[in-house]
Amino acid sequence: DLDTTVTGPTSLPLRPELAGLEPYGAPQLDVPVALNVNENPYAPSEQVVADIAAAVADAARGLNRYPDRDFEALRADLAAYLLTESGVGLGVEQLWAANGSNEVMLHLLQAFGGPGRTALSFAPTYSMYPEYARDTSTAWVAGRREEDFSLDPDVARATIAQHAPSVVLLASPNNPTGTALPTATILAVLDAAAQVPGGCVVVVDEAYGEFRRRGTPSALELLADHPHLAVSRTMSKAFGLAGARLGYLAASRELVDALRVVRLPYHLSAVTQAVARAALAHSTELMAQVGSLRDERDALVVWLRERGLQVADSDANFVLFGLFEDRRAVWEGLLDRGVLIREVGPPGWLRVSVGTPRETQAFKDALVEVAGL
Ligand code: PMP
Repeated sequence: DLDTTVTGPTSLPLRPELAGLEPYGAPQLDVPVALNVNENPYAPSEQVVADIAAAVADAARGLNRYPDRDFEALRADLAAYLLTESGVGLGVEQLWAANGSNEVMLHLLQAFGGPGRTALSFAPTYSMYPEYARDTSTAWVAGRREEDFSLDPDVARATIAQHAPSVVLLASPNNPTGTALPTATILAVLDAAAQVPGGCVVVVDEAYGEFRRRGTPSALELLADHPHLAVSRTMSKAFGLAGARLGYLAASRELVDALRVVRLPYHLSAVTQAVARAALAHSTELMAQVGSLRDERDALVVWLRERGLQVADSDANFVLFGLFEDRRAVWEGLLDRGVLIREVGPPGWLRVSVGTPRETQAFKDALVEVAGL
């Protein structure tokens, strides 16, 4: 049968698995209160802006040359930051970076996925994971999380044993639910992965790691004993640098060496490297807001629960709440009042990012009206 959906004079040889697909991404609308993509609501200070601008000017003077392909100075700065943030000491050769952690994870799938192989995660989770798999011709399997969005270690073990993936992706804290995984669960996954014939890499995606509640350790602490573990982080969230596009990863040297093979040469521009390094020099200041965002989040969870809504426990800078019979109507009602949140997650749930106190108040006021709380 001829494909009648193709219009125009020629048909393009699009990969069949891409037919009819839309690009991923939340609507970018110009609204007074944008709480839809888990950004940090606090812009960099004028001092940080000035230092970034100076660093970019310096980089601009050398833009006739390709950038440092191995971005060693940036990797050293990232290692120093992780030592301060999590108390875990890492060598420069254990760090990797790319244009957002999305690209870091694509590198992981390029190196460890591929035709005939499987990537596995546990749903509901970050909707880009199946896209990395699709784009690298890796089969995709979504195991299940429990009703409360936790991951049962026995279910995880059994799912890994059944599907023998070469990559397991675990978001912790998870998007869109906010759920952090206890160390025991990650250890169970690492153990099951170690038994997969041919090997299996476990990626713990800590994009929201800095927002975790006290007492929840980072998976970085497990790196020393697990060469098949990769911990992914980003400057997009806690650092408030989503526009700079800098994601990074910590892993064994052997694992990072595999990523170096699949990256495009000079994938991190001199400008990106300069911006990230200038920002890392201000990490203490940039992170100053993380504590207040955590407090805002916890207060928002309490407020929503007090109004009889279901709220998933959150270790991230967003909250998943519900359940609404018609979540689309609630989403639209909020948008009509200038508040943009995200229609994502299992049916009935909505996700809101933690904003400034003023933005959170605008969200609450609008929700009271729309949902009749
Ligand atoms: N992982 C998770 C769980 C995310 O929610 C996001 C951003 N929405 C990313 C990774 C990617 O972020 P970035 O590419 O900006 O680092």
